[in-house]
Amino acid sequence: MSFDTDENGYNDSNRAFLQAFLARGSMTFAEARPVLAAIFSVQEGQPTQAEDVTEDDLASYIAAANTAISPFDLEIRSTLRQTTSTRPNGDDGNGTQEIRAAERVYALVNTTSDALTQLASIYSADEIAFVKRVLDAMFDTHNTRRSEAMVVTGIQAMQLAKAASGSQGVGGAAQSLPMSQAESVMKQLVDEGWFEKSRKGFYSLSPRALLELRGWLVATYNDDEDEEAPQKIKFCAACRDIITVGQRCGNRDCSGRLHDMCVRNFFRAQKAEQCPACKAPWPGDKFVGERAITTSEQYQQGKRRSTNTQQQGNREERPTAAASTPDQDDAEE
Ligand SMILES: [Zn+2]
Ligand SMILES: [Zn+2]
Repeated sequence: MSFDTDENGYNDSNRAFLQAFLARGSMTFAEARPVLAAIFSVQEGQPTQAEDVTEDDLASYIAAANTAISPFDLEIRSTLRQTTSTRPNGDDGNGTQEIRAAERVYALVNTTSDALTQLASIYSADEIAFVKRVLDAMFDTHNTRRSEAMVVTGIQAMQLAKAASGSQGVGGAAQSLPMSQAESVMKQLVDEGWFEKSRKGFYSLSPRALLELRGWLVATYNDDEDEEAPQKIKFCAACRDIITVGQRCGNRDCSGRLHDMCVRNFFRAQKAEQCPACKAPWPGDKFVGERAITTSEQYQQGKRRSTNTQQQGNREERPTAAASTPDQDDAEE
């Protein structure tokens, strides 16, 4: 097979990579390796192993792809996955979730419109209004001073299928969705890589969605009038990226937040385990994200009760009623 190269050095191997990328919407280095190995094998006429593909190879293909797609207001951007705990098969089976080296996720981002606008081509206005209610639940209702969970359970999502009376959708009053339709929208959003569902049954925004929605989330949920006001959308003090899973300062009114994977290097550099914002000792066991719920006394009690009453059969973990209540550490305040 010959590879026609244009004046910019862009050839069929670049086109093949871009096609594979567009088909997926997002990719990690591990996922890109076999794709590039297959392309190199054809290009060089001899087999290339996935292990032989380097990060530099990927970087050069991403750069070429970005040049090709920029006229269409598209760009491949990358972010580090905040944690490995929500990764499919990321659990070691012992119930412990080791924090491994963070994985970089590359995703196709539309540079001129936000993800909600793009969803309009796939979903109906009422479905998008439902997605907006789910996002409001994640980033407003379940993201408070008392509990920065930024997740919803499947049951909570189903409760959002019903539109509040008088609520506005795109171009008119939003209609409620039948439960089955809401369920299929949630499933589709997971399949398309916008939402992730954790082992414990919580839905959160995927790295890809966070890349796309960062600006929209800040504009929608943060108060830019009053800079002193506590902000709903917060950023890691170490890497400056958005934080929806990680650790928080022991003082609920402090804005100090760090990703789990950023903590170690940050404190090593600082030579003290202090909050980056207020300098108080860093607790290390105060969380944002799903663990704001799962480490709470109420959630643990709910689990104990449900394991006792639930004999056998349904082995899927279900978040209990306690899922929507904040963690219990009033004592610290
Ligand atoms: Zn960070
Ligand atoms: Zn602090």
